[in-house]
Amino acid sequence: MNHQELKALDSAHTLQTYGRFDVDIDHGQGATLWDLSGRKYIDFTSGIGVCSVGYGNPRWAKAIYDQALKLGHISNLFYSQPYARLADTLCTRTGMAAAFFGNSGAEANEGLIKLGRKYSFDKYGQGRSTIITLNNSFHGRTITTLTATGQDVFHQYFFPFMEGFRYADANDIDSVKAQDQGDVCAVLLELVQGEGGVLPMERSFVAELARLCAEKDWLLLVDEVQTGVGRTGSLFAFQQYGIQPDGVSFAKGIAGGLPMGGFLVNEKCRGVLGPGTHASTFGGNPVCSAAACTVLDILDEQMLGEVQEKGAYLRGRIDAMEKKSIGKSRGLGLMVGVEVKEGYINKQLAAKLIDAGLLVLTAGPALRLLPPLTITKEELDEGLAIMEKTLE
Ligand SMILES: *Cc1c(COP(=O)(O)O)cnc(C)c1O
Repeated sequence: MNHQELKALDSAHTLQTYGRFDVDIDHGQGATLWDLSGRKYIDFTSGIGVCSVGYGNPRWAKAIYDQALKLGHISNLFYSQPYARLADTLCTRTGMAAAFFGNSGAEANEGLIKLGRKYSFDKYGQGRSTIITLNNSFHGRTITTLTATGQDVFHQYFFPFMEGFRYADANDIDSVKAQDQGDVCAVLLELVQGEGGVLPMERSFVAELARLCAEKDWLLLVDEVQTGVGRTGSLFAFQQYGIQPDGVSFAKGIAGGLPMGGFLVNEKCRGVLGPGTHASTFGGNPVCSAAACTVLDILDEQMLGEVQEKGAYLRGRIDAMEKKSIGKSRGLGLMVGVEVKEGYINKQLAAKLIDAGLLVLTAGPALRLLPPLTITKEELDEGLAIMEKTLE
């Protein structure tokens, strides 16, 4: 099949919900991809922060193959080893107490929202169900997580949206306090707003927010669907902010490309969601869990250190470029945003870069770079050379 035939097949019977770039991808190795015609691309996207250990990773593929042959799926009505091992590793490495597994970021955040509301219901009864989220946030595409998302563009068409969400400004503790009408149970935020434009929260704001939550007995819920699993140079971003949240969601990078999401809760919250209150048919699937265990093995402390180094290198090189179209970089680890200057449009710059052989993403008004965490120095340099040349 060639590119045109594939496009015809796509438009025939695939719901056209995505604005795709005019590129197909056939296979990959490390942080390098090839299309159907054999053309090569350097990948600064990892899917969208998903393929954390690169394409065709042999350890990851072997774990999947071995587990698929052994036991591809079993209901959560029975015990099995992979999810239990994964939960143990995640909690040991984060100081959290217990894990729940689902299949996506939105589903993970739905779980955190249920956690926040039930924690409060159990302790205070009804009337304390509001969750404060931040303007410019992104929490998912289900009706409830769309409502949680603090961007008006997402609050269209699908009425009625949920009750029980109010929005505060990021990095403004007074704005959060102003949303307190005595009915709040939790605050949900990203530590680096991903889709909003790769905007890291200020440390002082996060510390004040943690204090406010403790004082009011609001759960501090962190959406680490994008920032989690090594992306920012620590296993979870909250570990760099010096806070211990009540609940943390994860998804994108956890299983290195297989669909998986979930959340971790602390000791205080481990009893909130008991038998019958929450479930997911595929949640903790053995193959996804085995893949995730291998991803976590690969992302040891040394590799996380390398993520920090590679992120610093990438940002240093971008900041030194001095192009008319782009400004400074921002972000944490290998989650990098690049300012797009006035007069230029991020989607157009991205299309140019992709055309020149470098896959990149956009976020808010910025360019967004999320390379595989295992990307080599050579691949980084190759991608940077394309940026250097194309953004003239
Ligand atoms: C991608 C993302 C989500 C949604 O994840 P899905 O797997 O697409 O449901 C939620 N929150 C954040 C911060 C994300 O980046």
